[in-house]
Amino acid sequence: MAQFEKVNPKQSFPEMEEAMLAFWKENKTFEKSVENREGAEEFNFYDGPPFATGTPHYGHILAGTIKDVIPRYQTMNGKQVHRKFGWDCHGLPIENIVEKKLEISGKDDIEQKVGVHKFNETCRENVFTYAHEWEKTVNRMGRWVDMENDYKTMDVDFMQSVWWVYSELYKKGLVYEGYRVVPYCPRCSTPLSNFEVNQGYKDKQDKTTTVKFKVKGNESKYILAWTTTPWTLVANLGLAVGEDIDYVELLDHKTEETYVLARDLVKNYFKNEDDYVIMREYKGSCLKGIKYEPLFADFDPEVNPEVYETQGFKKGKNTHSVVIGHHVTTESGTGIVHIAPAYGEDDYQIGKDQNLGFVIHIADNGNTQNLLEHNGVQVFEYNEIALQDVKQRGLTLQINTYDHSYPHCWRCDSPLIYRAISAWYVNVEKIKDKMVDNNQEINWTPNEIKDGRFGKWVANAKDWNISRNRYWGSAIPVWQNEDKTAELCIGSIEEMYQYNKPYGQIEKKEENGEIKYFYTDTNKEVDIHKHFVDEIFLECPKTGQKLKRVPEVLDCWFESGSMPYASKGYPFKQEDSFKFPADFIAEGLDQTRGWFYTLLILGTALFDKAPMKNVIVNGIVLAEDGHKMSKSKQNYPDPKIVFDKYGADAMRFYLMNSPVVEAQDFRFSETGVEEVVKKVILPLWNTYYFFTTYANIDNFEPK
Ligand code: ZN
Repeated sequence: MAQFEKVNPKQSFPEMEEAMLAFWKENKTFEKSVENREGAEEFNFYDGPPFATGTPHYGHILAGTIKDVIPRYQTMNGKQVHRKFGWDCHGLPIENIVEKKLEISGKDDIEQKVGVHKFNETCRENVFTYAHEWEKTVNRMGRWVDMENDYKTMDVDFMQSVWWVYSELYKKGLVYEGYRVVPYCPRCSTPLSNFEVNQGYKDKQDKTTTVKFKVKGNESKYILAWTTTPWTLVANLGLAVGEDIDYVELLDHKTEETYVLARDLVKNYFKNEDDYVIMREYKGSCLKGIKYEPLFADFDPEVNPEVYETQGFKKGKNTHSVVIGHHVTTESGTGIVHIAPAYGEDDYQIGKDQNLGFVIHIADNGNTQNLLEHNGVQVFEYNEIALQDVKQRGLTLQINTYDHSYPHCWRCDSPLIYRAISAWYVNVEKIKDKMVDNNQEINWTPNEIKDGRFGKWVANAKDWNISRNRYWGSAIPVWQNEDKTAELCIGSIEEMYQYNKPYGQIEKKEENGEIKYFYTDTNKEVDIHKHFVDEIFLECPKTGQKLKRVPEVLDCWFESGSMPYASKGYPFKQEDSFKFPADFIAEGLDQTRGWFYTLLILGTALFDKAPMKNVIVNGIVLAEDGHKMSKSKQNYPDPKIVFDKYGADAMRFYLMNSPVVEAQDFRFSETGVEEVVKKVILPLWNTYYFFTTYANIDNFEPK
């Protein structure tokens, strides 16, 4: 009597796998492996969400295999392992696809041509274009994961939890509104990425001017500063000198005025040594703290204090004084740099570090605002007005023209400006030490990531800019009045409903014992994307003022970092499913600055704990030629073909047996997969064939 089923020595492994997949599906084998361990010790797994907008590639197959192997091993050990698949649905990848699809480009087109409502709804409709591809690949590779009860970052439950996370940080004083200086097109009213800026350099002729800043309490002593952007002079709040640069005070015989400038640059202004006499010499450090009279009255706190009070601008301890700037050189100008904190990255940093205060006079549309006169003038026209103004008042020493390569907008050809735009930050520096400690509790594979790549990154962490001036994302849950003197941060839909009561835009109803919220005008259930909540007004509980939501949306990394809480709808739908921290997560090396990092920031901020106990970091799968895998170069085999030819087992074994599971780069070769079939799977199968044949002949009875 034959006890062992006959084995086909010529078995096709891919075919056998397909049959096995059908068997699993029919018998709900994965689901049972979770259900029948109810009550057993739980092994907690978090799935990092991929963008739903691309097709799965080898990097996903690799990470997906690691995310399958470890939970299966723990399942075999008798533990219960829930595995919920996640999707990253928001952000630029899908916004760019939709801009192309709607044949539009940029902010004006989105807001005026199609409208934010249609734009966002088109994002929603198109974000899952490739979901089916993903399901096929995840299934074919034999990964056990729950894709039916998946989480999506665009679900209301998820987004409400993100609000909760944000509001907790807000309550703890860990988020703040600041500014970020970006290249900006005044015509398109939009910031540009560095990548976009590099596409548009062109020659441009500009005027440079050397301006005289009058030292306070001194009739004829001036500090000289040089600028290529006279339009920024009105927003000047400081002058920066180099600590160790040598400066002189010279008396100009012609004007009888004294000027302060770098010694090495005197020759650029005075050709003839008989025209002046040097009175004093000193290092830049001696100039620190000297007060000067502002060039314009517009932002002079003594002349125009209202601008600070009504616009919410800041006066600083050192407004209109000389400070030390580490970026100051004597390569050009006077060796003294005019600082307008709103209009340059260095300027902004110095302004912040040296307490110079902050003012803005260019609006989003590129026109002047907040000035005593000349408001509503286009920035480059205003440039000439400002220049003539200082010249007529005798406050220029020299005006020159010069040609230089200057960034222009690749869309509309306008010259760009550098400009501070409002941004929201997580105060990472405040919790950095705790993050460093919490990182020590994480078991990293490979171990050197802990104190190496990741540890170093955490130790040098900077505040995290979490806002985007975009559309399809989680809305920042902050409402403000017009001049930003009243502000409210909410953390739930219930709170939005409560504070909206005076305006009656939201209704609360109970349906089958469940509380639901509806928008009054459409009677549709509340969705909290930007195009809905921007229309909702809240009443300030302190002042009774009408508040409007700030326009920004959250960086999608804030959402993926919130997934431990948001994927479970925590704290609104707690049930028993919220488990923190995870026993295990896995992703690629690039996530040391991405998901791993944002998980640690938010876990530390909320619970002072790392949200993961064990992490496996995989390296990058390269093409066989050592280059990045590239669709256009076709330098790698289609995963589908590899599955069909050799089977998923061979591919999985090949990847798991390679240094890529220890964060090393790895060249993928089809021959390598073939080798696994020849050297591992076939010998195993042949051994089994041999065994069954002779076991049946000998009537072997296993005991
Ligand atoms: Zn433009």
